[in-house]
Amino acid sequence: MRIETLAVHAGHAIDPATGAVSAPIHLSTTFERDMEGTYSRGFMYTRNNNPNRQALEEGVSALEGGAAAAAFGSGTAAAMALFQALAPGDHVLAHVDAYYGTTRLLRDLFLRWKLETDFIDMSDMAAVKKALRPNTKLAWMETPSNPLLRIVDLAAVAQIIRDVGAISVCDNTWAPIIQRPFNLGSDLILHSTTKYFGGHCDVLGGIIVGKIENEFFQRIRSVQYSGGAVPSPFDCWLILRGMRTLPWRMRAHCENAAKVADFLAQHRRVKRVHYPGLTSHPGHEIARKQMSMFGGMLSLEVKGGRDAAMKVAAKTIIFTRATSLGGVESLIEHRASIEGPGTTSPEGLLRLSIGLENADDLIEDLDQALT
Ligand SMILES: *Cc1c(COP(=O)(O)O)cnc(C)c1O
Repeated sequence: MRIETLAVHAGHAIDPATGAVSAPIHLSTTFERDMEGTYSRGFMYTRNNNPNRQALEEGVSALEGGAAAAAFGSGTAAAMALFQALAPGDHVLAHVDAYYGTTRLLRDLFLRWKLETDFIDMSDMAAVKKALRPNTKLAWMETPSNPLLRIVDLAAVAQIIRDVGAISVCDNTWAPIIQRPFNLGSDLILHSTTKYFGGHCDVLGGIIVGKIENEFFQRIRSVQYSGGAVPSPFDCWLILRGMRTLPWRMRAHCENAAKVADFLAQHRRVKRVHYPGLTSHPGHEIARKQMSMFGGMLSLEVKGGRDAAMKVAAKTIIFTRATSLGGVESLIEHRASIEGPGTTSPEGLLRLSIGLENADDLIEDLDQALT
């Protein structure tokens, strides 16, 4: 099946009890045992498994072309589980431009757990090779990155990581459908399903998909049900519902973002636009190789630094000043002030999550805000 068909049908079945076309939501926390004491229907207690969570995991796993998936209450909880599946003394390589919350986890929490982490620029293959150690267990890639839209060559890094027997993880939150990390050598894919999967800024979630269901994936699975950071049945239902329109929404997000990026790149008040679809972007060639479209996220640097950027964000009418991304509505965010001390975001940078409005309205709104 092609991806649009998979998105509609994976994880879905007509309810055998009622014929319901849309899946029922199973709120029950506990499930009946057979007289022999077994659980022949497959469910025992909702922290361990639930019909809605199972449907979501099967659906996302099929969509990414994986063998199994484990869903969590947020993208951050999914990242937590992944790091908790490692052991003290293990070495992690993380992209220097990874999601701020993920780098904070590694810096603050997991340093005390004796995970050793190096943050490196993964677009620099020599830096990746140089950072390898005998105890390197995992490489965390993220592309396009946040908020500078840097591009990592997933296949090239995965090859280096595989050669030393370590695990390649791709945080694919920003590029579902349009980037297929398992085809590029990744072992695990992570999504914050809060973003494009949910798609409507109304549900928090995260998921890890394994290319194969190996021992490391089993460890993630046991962190999931022993640790208990699981999503509610309703949240699972919402995220799987979001998945059904994901390929078509992604196409529209990408088309809109490309138009907005072209407009901004020519604007006299704009110093720089970070969008991998622009031929001037340093990662454009690699993005063209590994992405079918260039995504719905972009950043611009306004001339005049922080004050000028804040004024633009204050003046937009259609764009909402808010964090997060991937919803139907367009958002604008001054990233440096959200990330706070230690941020690597330029002060004049505004990040845009391009929604599903008409691109011309978005362009007119940005034009009036910039001038
Ligand atoms: C939002 C985000 C996360 C964290 O997900 P939450 O659902 O907010 O916990 C991780 N990685 C990326 C790239 C994100 O955009």
